[in-house]
Amino acid sequence: MNPVISVDHLKAYYITRAYGVERTVRAVEDISLAIRQNEIYGLAGESGCGKSTLLKVLLGQVEPPLTVLDGSVTYHLGDETIDALHIPKSQLSNIRWKEVAYVPQGSMHVLNPVRRIRDSFRDYVMAHSPRSREETDALVLEYINRLGLPARVLGAYPHQLSGGMRQRVTIALATILRPRLAFADEPTTALDVVVQKGVIQLLREVQAMEKNTMVVVTHDMGVHANLADRIGILYAGTLVEEAPTREIFKAPRHPYTQYLIKSLPALDDKSERVSIPGRPPALDNPPSGCRFHPRCPYVMDICKTTIPRLEAVAPSHRVACFLETGNPSNATQPLQEPAADLRSQ
Ligand code: SF4
Repeated sequence: MNPVISVDHLKAYYITRAYGVERTVRAVEDISLAIRQNEIYGLAGESGCGKSTLLKVLLGQVEPPLTVLDGSVTYHLGDETIDALHIPKSQLSNIRWKEVAYVPQGSMHVLNPVRRIRDSFRDYVMAHSPRSREETDALVLEYINRLGLPARVLGAYPHQLSGGMRQRVTIALATILRPRLAFADEPTTALDVVVQKGVIQLLREVQAMEKNTMVVVTHDMGVHANLADRIGILYAGTLVEEAPTREIFKAPRHPYTQYLIKSLPALDDKSERVSIPGRPPALDNPPSGCRFHPRCPYVMDICKTTIPRLEAVAPSHRVACFLETGNPSNATQPLQEPAADLRSQ
């Protein structure tokens, strides 16, 4: 199936200069991926792994000190092919929200605290897809009903709604113009588990209704498990594994992904959870070779000097690890015994 958004060898760094000293944070390093129509794609990884930076670039929000050094981001919207990194601002604002929408973190920053929810919907619809007040109100009511939200929320102020309801209203607001591509940034942050479930369900319903493309960014693997069709795992600015959600959880192949999965609580498993040794690297001075090598229990000599490429290891499953794709030198031995608990569990 044709992609709705394709990313090709994208490299984006933060470059700052202070007192004559230049600092470069290599936040996104050579990422290529394609996200298809009618799927929810999850971007996962620890804090600071580059997922929010990648999201900014995918949205075409590249402002200094963030700089794109290489690669491309292309939207394929119907018959139109758009270079998201070089699109004129006027064209970007034409497609923003109607074609490409964004559900931000923290609903309180989106909803005007001194305006009723109905007014926020009116402002939004009339700004991006002008029509009469009556048509706008009818559209809003119909959409709220379709999503199963109570119509009384329209008369409320944001502070009168629970955090979960506010987040659901934010999702409704961002998707009311039926965008082909929607990005959601940590959509369940700061919500308790029960409320999270309602928000996840709503995102799924919106996607199923519109058959559009959704990109969900969160560190929470539990959210990905319940929401995403496919997952891309980011580590220190690089995409290290990508596969359908079921495969990522059943048979993760990159050592980092294995740690992520093994660190999750499981109802039927009382064994001690495995945490990832060490800390994520600073991206202004990332490790050479495989960026995971200082934390990897399977590290080989080659890993310290050579960057593993993301390669297909099965249909729809790509991994960047010499253990899976083959050691190009075929001469190096593991420096230490692999942690058997990770591979065998
Ligand atoms: Fe570990 Fe080497 Fe694979 Fe990187 S390439 S994850 S260091 S085995």
